[in-house]
Amino acid sequence: MSYDPSNIFAKILRGEIPNHKVYEDETALVMMDIFPQSRGHTLVIPKAPSRNLLDADPEVFSALMPLVQRVAIAAKAATKADGIRLAQFNEAPAGQTVFHLHFHIIPMYEGQTLAAHAGGKADEDELAALAKAIAAELNR
Ligand code: 5GP
Repeated sequence: MSYDPSNIFAKILRGEIPNHKVYEDETALVMMDIFPQSRGHTLVIPKAPSRNLLDADPEVFSALMPLVQRVAIAAKAATKADGIRLAQFNEAPAGQTVFHLHFHIIPMYEGQTLAAHAGGKADEDELAALAKAIAAELNR
């Protein structure tokens, strides 16, 4: 299947839809997931168009993975989570719902189970505060 530029992350990358931004550079956008599986659920999205890992240019990962690590460390510090889950889904049967490559950084809290994938919408003020707190940790 080919890349469809009308997907929601492509619209966000073009500035057509707002987001709670944590970080942006020439290669990637980091933003809060609006249907978080846990407090602080963050998405790292390369700007280069690909549906997912399977059709991405391998070059994308060399720039992206150090950022994924930095965001994981910052999200853990900002949320005081006990761990971080890294998730990435490829095609619908694997759980993918938005067809533009992205990595999920999901803070894990001792004794807490995760909310459903792409489930309930988070409070906008809480997302804004989390984006700010994670950005502050990234800039340390
Ligand atoms: P996937 O299932 O494709 O791996 O993950 C897509 C993610 O995007 C889901 O976790 C879902 O909650 C999130 N999501 C869907 N629509 C939006 C949106 O409009 N804005 C943001 N920030 N996240 C979204």
